[in-house]
Amino acid sequence: MRIGVLGGGQLGRMLALAGYPLGLRFRFFDPHPESPAGHLAELVTGAYDDVDALAYFGAGCDLITYEFENVPFDAVQYLTRYAPVYPPPEALAVAQDRLREKETFTRLGIPTPVFDPVDSRVELNHAVERFGLPAVLKTRRFGYDGKGQQVLRTRADVAAAWEALQGSPLLFEGFIPFERELSLVAVRGREGQTAFYPLVENWHEQGILRRTLAPAPQVAPELQQEAERHLTLLMETLNYVGVLTVEFFQHEGRLIANEMAPRVHNSGHWTIEGAVTSQFENHLRAICGLPLGVTATRGSAGMINLIGTTPAPEKVLEVPGAHLHLYGKQPRAGRKLGHITVVASDPRTLEERLQAIQACL
Ligand code: AMP
Repeated sequence: MRIGVLGGGQLGRMLALAGYPLGLRFRFFDPHPESPAGHLAELVTGAYDDVDALAYFGAGCDLITYEFENVPFDAVQYLTRYAPVYPPPEALAVAQDRLREKETFTRLGIPTPVFDPVDSRVELNHAVERFGLPAVLKTRRFGYDGKGQQVLRTRADVAAAWEALQGSPLLFEGFIPFERELSLVAVRGREGQTAFYPLVENWHEQGILRRTLAPAPQVAPELQQEAERHLTLLMETLNYVGVLTVEFFQHEGRLIANEMAPRVHNSGHWTIEGAVTSQFENHLRAICGLPLGVTATRGSAGMINLIGTTPAPEKVLEVPGAHLHLYGKQPRAGRKLGHITVVASDPRTLEERLQAIQACL
């Protein structure tokens, strides 16, 4: 069975690493010839609107999936003539537009910040009048890792954000003074069966994920159930197949959905060593119509992203329970070059090991 993956980044690379033991083969599509997945499998390069390249890519695949959420919807739709595409393209369309995403959350009764689409300065002023400040102004599309968004605290911020972001359709969102950020990675199989990893706690800096702690400390069973209910509703509504992640804010004990990712997710990287079945294997099991794997943890895990630079491997690997993942990318400021997962049998030992890792960075 050959799986075609749109996007050849580190997520694709880790999908391939999880799929080879299952006897799967991979073909990637990415506009960049230096994509990390190209070190492991055939990489078809071409623009996402290059129909000939897409046709060549699709013709040899039994199933198609994607690891990059800004793949143009038309490319994904086009490929459905060659092989089944999972997750369903409709889920991608919803996730690509922050307005549709938040409308979907609202329709399903999933709490989300107040929001208003903004296409002009007048509409922006109306939104400020209606909902007040602080707020966040985001581009509706193509935002990731905090790009395409600005926090509005004062009237001067409103003017500056408009200057910076005008020209793209925008979304005004209420600012949530959250206690912490949590995410839930879930998976749904072709027969509608589901499995959930525990809620994890995430730290972002400048909009980029830096660290994940799994499971998140002090999560009441009710909070986990609430998150699972939200993802179940979303996955059923979207007729979803594969891994889906939702990022939440925890505020006054409740979950407020920020955004969803219709793919394997950075906050699920810890599952490679920290769970019985990784998110990557479970995504493949789901799309291939295989039974889903157990999502239970193996102790406590912490994941640290390596952004811009990488530490000396011999220092990292000296720490017990530490696993180094390097993506084979050229270093550049702000670029995700790899991650380290540390596992331990209990949270205290984990904290000690994470401190030892921090000292190498
Ligand atoms: P996003 O690209 O939507 O995931 O936003 C990146 C980060 O910005 C989030 O992880 C939060 O730390 C912060 N953020 C985004 N939206 C809001 C909001 N409505 N209220 C408070 N913080 C936000």
